[in-house]
Amino acid sequence: MIPVSEAIKIIERESFALPAETIDLENSIGRILAENIKADMDLPPFDRSQMDGFAVRSNDTKITPVRLKIIGESVAGKGFDQKMKSGEAVRIMTGARVPEGADAVQKIEVTKENDGFVEILEPAKLAQNINKFASEIEKGAKVFSKGEIISEQMIAAIASFGYAKLKVFQKPQVSIFSTGSEIVEIGEIPQKDQIRNSNSMMLKVLAENAGAQADILPQVHDDFETLKNHIAEAVGLKSQVPGPKSQVPKNQSKILIITGGVSVGDYDFTKPVLRALGAEIFFEKVSLKPGKPTVFARLGDVLIFGLPGNPVSVAVTFYLFVRRAILQTQSSTHCDLKRGFAVCSDKIKGAKERDSYLPVSLSTNKHGNLTIESLRFSGSSNFIAFARAEALVFIPQGKNLEKNETAEILFL
Ligand code: AMP
Ligand code: MG
Repeated sequence: MIPVSEAIKIIERESFALPAETIDLENSIGRILAENIKADMDLPPFDRSQMDGFAVRSNDTKITPVRLKIIGESVAGKGFDQKMKSGEAVRIMTGARVPEGADAVQKIEVTKENDGFVEILEPAKLAQNINKFASEIEKGAKVFSKGEIISEQMIAAIASFGYAKLKVFQKPQVSIFSTGSEIVEIGEIPQKDQIRNSNSMMLKVLAENAGAQADILPQVHDDFETLKNHIAEAVGLKSQVPGPKSQVPKNQSKILIITGGVSVGDYDFTKPVLRALGAEIFFEKVSLKPGKPTVFARLGDVLIFGLPGNPVSVAVTFYLFVRRAILQTQSSTHCDLKRGFAVCSDKIKGAKERDSYLPVSLSTNKHGNLTIESLRFSGSSNFIAFARAEALVFIPQGKNLEKNETAEILFL
């Protein structure tokens, strides 16, 4: 049994790195930048008015009201090109260039205009209502770095610097299938002893949110030969061929996720099949609750995760391990879930011999603390409780979390 940190190191070591591709900005959410985003211009590109009003010399408005001669106007897209002198004002619109000679903008609400003159009713302070040239960013400065995940909040900034297209790392191909003779597809009516396959769909969505191109393969019954053929086909081995490693094609860097059949039951065939196919198994037991029997292996160029069948274990092990591998193949510099701290609103039991990462929901209390609400997590199969999860709370092996204790959390 290896600690979670060790499992993560192995995943980092074994993950492949995909090349970059150029895509349209509009399709870039969730992708990983393969180039630095640089400012190709100063912003603002000129001293810019924040208000509709009058550009003035602040010294002229020290004593108000004061009457100034309107010598022209500056509108967004067409500024006023003459130099403004003392005693003068230029009508100006939001977003327009502040003319040379002016050093403040007074908003229209405190002005009165008539007959080519404007009365400024309140003093304008130096630089008032002006966004200074290059105060947001200077030309050539780095805005975002290679390896960052593109979020929707970043789009306007990227667009501002002319990146209609941009370089991102290619999506890893992820194939997913579930094992279990009790499993039927979502659209089917489960018969006696059967349940629906919730894992495959969950994994497809999780994998795609991490930037992968994910496909669900048909599910497999608990049968050694069938599973062997299925895995062989999924990794691009000819079915039937029990594989010495050399026969595995080296051209398809991808990730295969299998759920179920990794424990020690009589019908748990994932590990024996991987061995029979000649897979290199990097780990098969992690000091983790839920998710102890997680398997990580490679067959040819295909990284294989064997996750336990329970949907909550699948989710937790995906977040801790598979997500990381998917992001790693895209050279992300943010492969970790965001970490933080929160206060337990109740006692939460850990496990004697394993670290726990339990799904919890979050709230805030009247002291302004982020609090952990246990999900009445009645076991690793409780995916209905899991539906409310917002974080995983970390409980070190052999410990419990007491009420009001501060604990480390990983945001989902
Ligand atoms: P296993 O890891 O195969 O022993 O499965 C553990 C538990 O998870 C069993 O109760 C299974 O019925 C359940 N399970 C396995 N695969 C799935 C699946 N694809 N969807 C929902 N539940 C599953
Ligand atoms: Mg099973």
